[in-house]
Amino acid sequence: MHAADFSTRGAVAVISFNNPPMNTLAHALRTAVLGHLQKALADPAVRAVVLIGGGRAFCAGAEIREFNSPLAVAAPNLRELIALIEASPKPVVAAIHGFAMGGGLELAMGCHYRVALPGAQLALPEVKLGILPGAGGTQRLPRALGVERALDMIVSGNAIAARDAAGTALVDRIVEGDLLEGAVGFAEKLLAEGRPLRRLRDMAASVANEGFFAEARARALKAHRGYPAPAKCIEAVEAAVRLPFDEGVKVERRCFDELIEGPESKALRHAFFGERTVGKVPGLPEDTPAREIASAAVVGAGTMGGGIAMVFANAGIPVKLLEMNREALDRGVAAIRRNYAGTVARGRLTQAEMDERMARISPTLAYEDLGEADILVEAVFEDMQVKKDVLTRLDRTAKAGAVLATNTSTLDVDRIAATTSRPEAVVGTHFFSPANVMRLLEIVRGAKTSGETLATAMKLAKTLGKTGVVSGVCDGFIGNRMLERYLQQAYFLLDEGALPQAVDKALENWGMAMGPFAMSDMAGNDIGWHVRKRRYLERPEFAYSKIPDRICELGRFGQKTGAGFYRYEQGSRTPIPDPEVEKLIADYRREAGLAPRAIGEEEIVERSIFALVNEGARILEEGIALRSVDIDIVYLTGYGFPRYRGGPMFYAESVGLKKVLAAMESYRKGYHGECWSAAPLLARLAAEGGKFR
Ligand code: NAD
Repeated sequence: MHAADFSTRGAVAVISFNNPPMNTLAHALRTAVLGHLQKALADPAVRAVVLIGGGRAFCAGAEIREFNSPLAVAAPNLRELIALIEASPKPVVAAIHGFAMGGGLELAMGCHYRVALPGAQLALPEVKLGILPGAGGTQRLPRALGVERALDMIVSGNAIAARDAAGTALVDRIVEGDLLEGAVGFAEKLLAEGRPLRRLRDMAASVANEGFFAEARARALKAHRGYPAPAKCIEAVEAAVRLPFDEGVKVERRCFDELIEGPESKALRHAFFGERTVGKVPGLPEDTPAREIASAAVVGAGTMGGGIAMVFANAGIPVKLLEMNREALDRGVAAIRRNYAGTVARGRLTQAEMDERMARISPTLAYEDLGEADILVEAVFEDMQVKKDVLTRLDRTAKAGAVLATNTSTLDVDRIAATTSRPEAVVGTHFFSPANVMRLLEIVRGAKTSGETLATAMKLAKTLGKTGVVSGVCDGFIGNRMLERYLQQAYFLLDEGALPQAVDKALENWGMAMGPFAMSDMAGNDIGWHVRKRRYLERPEFAYSKIPDRICELGRFGQKTGAGFYRYEQGSRTPIPDPEVEKLIADYRREAGLAPRAIGEEEIVERSIFALVNEGARILEEGIALRSVDIDIVYLTGYGFPRYRGGPMFYAESVGLKKVLAAMESYRKGYHGECWSAAPLLARLAAEGGKFR
């Protein structure tokens, strides 16, 4: 099969991309288009050419499977193809439906004219991979669409609909009805009118306001701290305004080359591919049947249960919501309603949409009402006996083939499953708070969880708009187990001389969305306290500073009580350093005979992040995580880890495992050095010069 087809309609040659499903610019497609173009140009009977996508879309841009392979750059490359089209003496018209993304839009902009269906999506999303359009996109789009809108598209990577570009040189005509007919008709009209070829490279791009680029730079610096690509996008677009086309292209090329070699774009590409990788489970065939989830049930309408019910309702799945008594049920439903109403008030949801979503949530007190659900998720108190009781009842109620899911954050999923007659149907679905916002879903695979149950949970994650990552059973699973080590260091840092605000600032400057103390205040300090109390009994070797317990003993549970590691003004979520906390810390140090010392940002960051890495290595070695990239994706999507650093494991590799190990060795000599015994896998890989897998 050819990756592109050739036909003629009178004097118009039609080159139709045929590389399903997305018509990516694979080498085979580029080669086929080149061949057909040469044929059209050589044929005197052909007077115009239409490029159109077969199937669902015009073209989705580069073929990611060819990334990092020689095929990606093999001739003809995209730049050569565009140059040939642009130089063609016969008019070339791009006919766009579905979407034209990245290189696909750059190809379309190499054509002399573009026609499109009104809803076709146009985007240059390269910035999301930490790069910029490298085939003239930064030079042609400002000329076609105007500098302001083009810059916005290139810096954000977001799509616009073709109808919104009508009347600009980006979209010459909106076609209602058959696109090919419309495109051929448009080409015939060009010929009949003898219209001259219009090449975007020959047009000018200008800005009205001289300060435009300086303002854009300031905005980007603020909005995209740590990400170098937006500033480079601005530099390239500015070149489109200030320099002749060919000079501007050189600037684009230089910016592209600088970005592609930089650590940030490597990290972003790692994250991009990682999000696809985590959807695949070695040993679980991709065609494993997944159950259709047409309806759901949630038990417990607290913080998590309410959020999870919203997640189902938002995805269009009707959900029953069960509580233990009327009062708790009413409270839970009222919280959901308040949450939606807030979104409506902010203009991000219409009242009608809210009503629809609320109507999908059916509150109930009767287990019999849950019998038809395809998945039943428990989100009751974090207590083994309570969970067992609920699972026993769900087992009795649920229809055959239903999935029984637990939202536990720390308990043994296998023990929970063992209370049912169908452990193969039990799986952990560990949502993160707030469940309707956070993208991460840890899918906890029990010893007996069947392939079908696992496949169903993974497919459900996609349906719900979540990133599902599979974890084995252990205390805390991937994310929270690592977080314990991170918090352990954060608390020790207080013992040794740092203050919460200094620790948070160091980590936020490094790129974390939120420092550990602000995060803990947000999540509720009582949750961690509850976990530590259990640890003191079960794992006495796991040492902690006493400071967080003392904070909790004062009822300082965080934002919800107006005070935690910080204090909060009424109705505000802004953490304010609190002298009372400083006194508590100082008193504790005195009692414990600890002499405070000055601790630099570098030490704060290293100890926090390397603690994650070391535990991550153990998790990998034990097979709890399938691959190191799964750990990275957990941290990127659930813990505010900076995407431009690629996740803890990727970051450790970019620092160099030998260096990481050496730093850990030095901390071994310090306060609570026993925490720094290296994971055997990390020690081995550092010695061998190897990498995580
Ligand atoms: P919560 O206290 O806010 O809600 C628990 C709800 O369960 C309460 O409304 C309670 O009335 C209800 N409930 C208790 N026993 C019940 C029973 N037998 N039948 C029906 N309803 C019952 O707690 P939460 O924070 O929503 O946590 C729920 C679960 O989610 C826990 O397992 C927790 O570990 C886990 N989790 C919590 C978070 C978080 O950040 N809060 C994050 C991930 C997972």
